[in-house]
Amino acid sequence: MKVYEDFKVYGPYLRKDKRKHVCLVKYEKGKKIKKTVSYPKFLMEQHLNRYLLEDETVDHINGNFEDDRIENLQILTRSENANKASVYVEVPIVSCIWCRTEFKPSRAQYEKRGVTRAGPFCSRSCSGKYGKSVQETGITLDREKVEVLHYSYNNNYKKEYVNFYNKESLCEPEMQ
Ligand SMILES: [Zn+2]
Repeated sequence: MKVYEDFKVYGPYLRKDKRKHVCLVKYEKGKKIKKTVSYPKFLMEQHLNRYLLEDETVDHINGNFEDDRIENLQILTRSENANKASVYVEVPIVSCIWCRTEFKPSRAQYEKRGVTRAGPFCSRSCSGKYGKSVQETGITLDREKVEVLHYSYNNNYKKEYVNFYNKESLCEPEMQ
């Protein structure tokens, strides 16, 4: 498999926050397809000759975002990367989808990724009541997103919507 086959590569372009990205363009049946990919991710994908998985991010081992040498790049899961980069995590107050009581989700709750079941619940009791109601009525509720902010040393923060694929992270340009 060739990574980004048929794409024309523009860049890397330097952003204000010193991170780089590339623009990839190809035409399919006369339609222009454009993707923006972070440069280190692009380099890693070329290096491995595969696309990164949703949960894989590229980390600069020495902490210098400008040092994109392949020896300085490693793959971390999103939570590993967030833990490494962040000084502290700001967890929002959310409301229980069953009783609407406001509460602060525990680390175990907000770090649960890829969970598609309903939530968050303030307690086991609410989660149990919900489960019982689903059995009786068949009506399910959607999981509500929990927005967690990771503050890093340079005070750039990274916004994360936990339990959802982190498309809106401010540190990585999203695919377009
Ligand atoms: Zn509740």
